[in-house]
Amino acid sequence: MGQKEIIIVRYGEVALKGMNKPYFERVLLGRIQHALKGVQGLDASRDDGLIVIAASEGESLPVPSDGLVKRVSKVFGVASVSPAIVIKSHEMAEISEAAIEFMRPLVKNRLDMPLTFKVKGKRSDKRFPIESPEMAGQIGAAILDAFGEAVKVRMKDPDVMLTVHLRRSGVFVYHEKTDGFGGLPLGTNGKGMVLLSGGIDSPVAAWLMAKRGMRLEAVHFHSYPYTSPRAQEKVARLASCVAAYAGAFDLHMVNLLPAQEAIVQHCPEALTTILIRRFMMRTAEALGIQTGCDVLITGESLGQVASQTAKALVVTDAVAHMPVMRPLIASDKTDIMDIAAEIGTYEISIEPFEDCCTVFLPKHPATRPKMEDVLAAETMIPDLEPLLVSLAASAEAQWIKPGGINA
Ligand code: ATP
Ligand code: MG
Repeated sequence: MGQKEIIIVRYGEVALKGMNKPYFERVLLGRIQHALKGVQGLDASRDDGLIVIAASEGESLPVPSDGLVKRVSKVFGVASVSPAIVIKSHEMAEISEAAIEFMRPLVKNRLDMPLTFKVKGKRSDKRFPIESPEMAGQIGAAILDAFGEAVKVRMKDPDVMLTVHLRRSGVFVYHEKTDGFGGLPLGTNGKGMVLLSGGIDSPVAAWLMAKRGMRLEAVHFHSYPYTSPRAQEKVARLASCVAAYAGAFDLHMVNLLPAQEAIVQHCPEALTTILIRRFMMRTAEALGIQTGCDVLITGESLGQVASQTAKALVVTDAVAHMPVMRPLIASDKTDIMDIAAEIGTYEISIEPFEDCCTVFLPKHPATRPKMEDVLAAETMIPDLEPLLVSLAASAEAQWIKPGGINA
């Protein structure tokens, strides 16, 4: 019988695109092919609103296919993934036979009998004369006939929901569905320079922007020798976790100490944090311009700390000419932590290493800094412009490859 194992890939928002849909489909297919690199003998192709992964001629899909399914489900733009079989015939007898064979290992591996099941029919090829409920009924009856007491129909919460999807190119039979993250394929939405600290928030912010199709570049500020090289190594591991989803990117390491010392020496203590943040923004933007970024990305969340009040954000924002994307601005910390755990950055983020911002932490940071006070403070820093130029020039780029638990 002409039957073949495949993996079905469904896409969410990409499917809703209008005129641009073929473009998004092409990029998504490219990203899936990229995710499959290193696995021999596989072909991925578009199939009428889905993407289908199959073994090339003369090859077979790896068994079990869980590893492949997991890998593909992580590609941004993918809504869900199902291991399936495809039958080329549209004959009811052959479809029922294939459904029985699909059920056989599930029935066999079942310890407590009976296995409950339901057949769901889907008919996208309307030329097929039998309607979905009728088709499901006939296949269900054939399965009952084949396995007798070992199986039982259950409409609500069955052990196996067997979907039989009749399509132009063949009939798909499957029961498992692994959810993807949705979003849009990487490379469809410009490039952002993420300010990556060693904390919980910024890796999540980077991941969320990449999920919308944005390519990344990153900058980390340290205060060596006040901060240790191990703190930098931790940030590189965090970046590597993000790269498992967002592809490899450059992480620029900048020693902020010269700026911090100038601020501490010349400016009012309460403004230290906000002034440091303005230096970070300017330097990130300079690096962003050099590397073709369109926007800056931070992990700021409204009201989380003194430097993230509305007033403080306005003062920080004022130095940036590029738009600053803050995908977590309205998120609660607990929700951010949940995403961090899911994508594998949380465990690294909570490792205790000092951050450059904590090195010169003021006792009473201004939560409502006034723009004129901040501007006046900056005029007290001698050679501000050359200092900014030297910060950006001192950046050391490190190529970050995908890694972490989800690579
Ligand atoms: P995170 O937000 O990453 O958990 P945090 O909450 O300690 O760390 P803040 O110090 O409030 O963050 O900084 C807010 C944002 O500024 C961060 O999300 C990050 O985008 C950026 N940022 C802070 N410190 C650094 C740093 N050392 N290097 C690069 N970016 C930084
Ligand atoms: Mg934060």
